[in-house]
Amino acid sequence: MPDLLAALFIVAVIFFTTGCVTEGKVETDNGRSLTPEQRAEADALEAAIENIRAKCAEQVPAVTCTQPWVVVSETVSVAVYRSGSIFVSPQQLHPAFRAVVAHELAHHYFSDARNCRGERVVACERNANFHGIRVLMVGYGYDFRTAVRLMHDYLVVGLNINKPLPGHPDACAELHDFERRIFAAPQTLYPCTEQAVTR
Ligand SMILES: [Zn+2]
Repeated sequence: MPDLLAALFIVAVIFFTTGCVTEGKVETDNGRSLTPEQRAEADALEAAIENIRAKCAEQVPAVTCTQPWVVVSETVSVAVYRSGSIFVSPQQLHPAFRAVVAHELAHHYFSDARNCRGERVVACERNANFHGIRVLMVGYGYDFRTAVRLMHDYLVVGLNINKPLPGHPDACAELHDFERRIFAAPQTLYPCTEQAVTR
């Protein structure tokens, strides 16, 4: 994950090489164009941001009405949110990875998922998973059931990541946290083992 200075540097480079970065728009950091499939998904992402903006006056779901910058960048392996900007790798611009993008958008829109630092970081990341459901529904138009499934699938995939990402020390505990918030019956928890030491 790039730190704040790196993120600012990237934004600065984009600014000076392309002239501007437009809020609510999906742009690349190297001027290269996207494939037709990636551009189609970028359009869907822009539409999702617009749908959320349109609902903002109703306080659904956003706590902020500012639109994020979205930068498609090969400098990130998956996606990262930093200070109003979402950096997403070109490979993630695909309908199959909307839960990833929704998680990052949730960091932007929801106060309890913003500025994930210090001892708040784990809870903050888990809040982004939870609010990702809302982003998928309001932004992309999924029904609740589908939005939950997409976020759940994304968290299950996280179980296969060997090296924990910052804020995600225990993928199994993170998945169970999501399930406890969504599903009424605790016995439906995904069969994985939480690492008690990282709680
Ligand atoms: Zn996150």
